Amino acid sequence: MSDCLFCKIIAGDIPSNKIFEDDDVYAFYDIDKQAPQHFLVIPKQHIATLNDTDDAILLGKLTLTASKIAKELGFADDGYRVVMNCNANGGQVVYHIHLHCLGGRPLSWSPG
Ligand code: 5GP
Ligand code: ZN
Repeated sequence: MSDCLFCKIIAGDIPSNKIFEDDDVYAFYDIDKQAPQHFLVIPKQHIATLNDTDDAILLGKLTLTASKIAKELGFADDGYRVVMNCNANGGQVVYHIHLHCLGGRPLSWSPG
């Protein structure tokens, strides 16, 4: 989608600190990290919100990519949080679905 920030990141039109990519997903560090470790996992296919997909395989792959990266970066055993915001009440700002993975310190439960 031409006016989507994350589609532009996938295309390389906007720079990002890439961690991983394959045919389906792209992972990169969040520009405004909320924890010592904070990266995003996104599908290469443009999907605006969680309400707009029933692709269980792709959604599962986003989650498993996050855990794989957390293991590789060495903070999986200590623990981490994965979260996907949906629409206005969920705090979604970028309308291309993305899984946040946060770790590297104890995280308080702050639903906002
Ligand atoms: P949301 O609130 O939509 O769940 O989260 C969007 C996330 O995208 C935010 O954590 C924000 O810091 C991140 N973000 C926004 N613009 C950019 C950017 O240009 N590059 C990177 N790496 N992250 C971004
Ligand atoms: Zn997009």
